[in-house]
Amino acid sequence: MSAGKIVVLGTGGTIAGTALQPGAGLGYRAAQLSVQALLAAVPGLEQAARGPLAMEQLAQVDSKDMDWAVWRALAQRCTQLLVNSQVRAIVITHGTDTLEETAWFLHSVLAARKPVVLTCAMRPATALAPDGPQNLRDALAVAASAGVQGVLVVAAGSVHGAQAVSKVHPYRIDAFSSGDDGPLGWVEEGVLRWRHNRPLALVNPAPAAIKKIVDAGAAPRVEIVLSHAGADGRIVDALVADGTQGIVVAATGNGTLHRALHAALERAQRAGVAVRVATRCSLGQLLVQADDPFPSTPGLSPVKARIALQLQLLGA
Ligand code: ASP
Repeated sequence: MSAGKIVVLGTGGTIAGTALQPGAGLGYRAAQLSVQALLAAVPGLEQAARGPLAMEQLAQVDSKDMDWAVWRALAQRCTQLLVNSQVRAIVITHGTDTLEETAWFLHSVLAARKPVVLTCAMRPATALAPDGPQNLRDALAVAASAGVQGVLVVAAGSVHGAQAVSKVHPYRIDAFSSGDDGPLGWVEEGVLRWRHNRPLALVNPAPAAIKKIVDAGAAPRVEIVLSHAGADGRIVDALVADGTQGIVVAATGNGTLHRALHAALERAQRAGVAVRVATRCSLGQLLVQADDPFPSTPGLSPVKARIALQLQLLGA
């Protein structure tokens, strides 16, 4: 086992949520408990972490309200911790709602040659049977395992990669899926079992320039629009008039667009707005064709394609 501590960064979410009514699984407020309190509720903490722990409250937000400022602070702090020889891994507690976005953002910007493990909970800490303590213990076990690198998500006993993972269920504890890819592995009684019985190289070989992100302050404005029956494209014209810099369109099927929306997106592109196509299908990925009218983002969901375009517009 490599030397150094695991640093747990708290950012809020249901894992830190409390309900006024004891035992309630809904009607709670996310982001109430400190990261210290979350860790205090985990039995067998030192055993799972296999070494010293440190904790920091980086933010305290319901992740439905996640924003660029928190991402920027996270990216900066993770970058500092990753180059610190006293640190062997990072665990981040986070809300489930935008977990996949934060995971993809961090994967895109970090040279994570150490584990960066995000975890969460579907039930608040005051629920009858909260899932947070188990998830946190599993995340620590993954962070402490030999051969782990890169940004991972640990929830309900499964380990997911940043690109494939998404929240697929609004209520059940096992709310995350990696779709066609399946999970990368599982945590069983504190032991990480990779799906193919060997660690996977998940480090981004060409992360975005962190300095550009830190210097930028604000994120480029990129909006997501949906292609659907009856779409008329007026929302695109309104966004262009309002100064948006980029539009990701969540297209039907293999990148098909309602003809009215298509026409509006062509107008947007002519006006200098960057347009990207992602599919609104939850499984599979876009197959690029030579005559595609707009650049597409195979393998990225609309929310992740939005992050990719923001980073591109920043020149990061
Ligand atoms: N709204 C909460 C959040 O994303 C939901 C959760 O964590 O499960 O912070």
